[in-house]
Amino acid sequence: MNTDVVNTDVNETKTLKVALLGCGNVGSQVARILLEDADTLAARTGARLELVGIGVRTIDAPRDVELPRELFTTDSESLVAGADLVIELMGGIEPARSLILSAVRHGACVVTGNKALLAQDGPTLYEEADKAGVQLSYEAAVAGAIPILRPIRDSLSGDRITRVLGIVNGTTNFILDQMDSTGAQFEDALAEAQRLGYAEADPTADVEGHDAAAKAAILAALSFHTRFSLDDVYCEGITKVSATDIAAAKDAGFVIKLLAIAEKLTDDAGDEGVSVRVHPTLLPREHPLAAVRGAFNAVFVEAENAGELMFYGQGAGGTPTASAVLGDLVSAARRIVLGGPGRTETTTGHVPALPISASRTSYHVGLRVADQPGVLARIAQVFSDNGVSIELFRQSISSADQSAELRIVTHRASEADLAATVASISQLDVVQDVTSVLRVEGV
Ligand code: NAP
Repeated sequence: MNTDVVNTDVNETKTLKVALLGCGNVGSQVARILLEDADTLAARTGARLELVGIGVRTIDAPRDVELPRELFTTDSESLVAGADLVIELMGGIEPARSLILSAVRHGACVVTGNKALLAQDGPTLYEEADKAGVQLSYEAAVAGAIPILRPIRDSLSGDRITRVLGIVNGTTNFILDQMDSTGAQFEDALAEAQRLGYAEADPTADVEGHDAAAKAAILAALSFHTRFSLDDVYCEGITKVSATDIAAAKDAGFVIKLLAIAEKLTDDAGDEGVSVRVHPTLLPREHPLAAVRGAFNAVFVEAENAGELMFYGQGAGGTPTASAVLGDLVSAARRIVLGGPGRTETTTGHVPALPISASRTSYHVGLRVADQPGVLARIAQVFSDNGVSIELFRQSISSADQSAELRIVTHRASEADLAATVASISQLDVVQDVTSVLRVEGV
């Protein structure tokens, strides 16, 4: 039952024309909600939101939702020219980029979920929207249904964010969770994700971390009031995470997650910079992000005054993502009704993006070594020589080949010092193999 009280202040004579570009997983659900909930949306907006057309590639392509055929067109450019609000849900770079630019130049507010486009060419779009005095909103671009961008940009605008840790890719979280709960190897967990529809036939963008990197750039930009592009993001995917890594992490009380991290760092001279990175990360099992299972997403924000905040929910899917799109649409429409410019990005921070070598974290290092007296002391000496202090040593002996597995967790150290340590250790005659080097957060 619709419990909304229809607002008698709605100016029924005011109608805003909405053009929808794309009618796939998300677009079809957005169209459905626009048509089904028209009265409620009008009550909340103060104007009717009239879906005037849907731009697609193939008019008669099968759709998840039955929609009036007369709404469909392949002439997206003309559709955009006559709209007050444009929703871009085509994905990809072109023609999405040109159509968004055309929409803002025609004075339309734009809502998009296109993280790939924003990470590649966001600043051009934001500048054009500012120039035209229209709003460009993109809540759906990061973590699907989860309201995270507006809380960071608006609710926390009176605070100082220090760090953001996000599980922002459901496919990789599902795969790592599957490996953790069943002991499966990466390839088997990926096949299961593909069977269940959580991973695409070509999973590269997800498993190599590219999708998470695009979202990390957007999160970092809003959190630190500075433009960051994909080139500023260090990116490492999950394809090299083995069942052995997961088991060793579990044994030591950790879970492995692919995290998008944006954090402000201050060097010894007092200069600030932001490290933006995506990589598999060990988290203590009691960390709130460790409880994020399956294909769910969550973003953990640390701010000077607010402290720790966590935002959790469905990071993908047509209907959940449509919720974020509709939220942006109503907000943009309200601005048109009430007047006033929108806010697209925030660029008052001017902090440089730091290379991965500047980041500091704890590390989990796995080694296969000869089971001989004095080996531990020699390895500990190399860590010490490079200024990396050890928090935890674990050893398991294989009687079959007289070798031992060592698992070492370090205190926080710089990426450069850790790299030098690993390079020296791998030269030791007693070290047969460096089996893994993983970063640890939340300790
Ligand atoms: P999708 O299912 O692949 O649908 C894409 C739609 O765009 C289709 O209707 C397609 O038309 C249309 N389209 C593509 N290229 C076109 C072109 N050159 N000209 C005209 N129409 C074109 O995509 P989606 O999953 O809904 O995702 C849409 C956007 O939302 C993407 O930017 C994605 O990153 C973002 N997003 C998606 C999710 C999710 O869960 N799916 C979550 C967050 C964000 P036809 O139908 O005629 O082929």
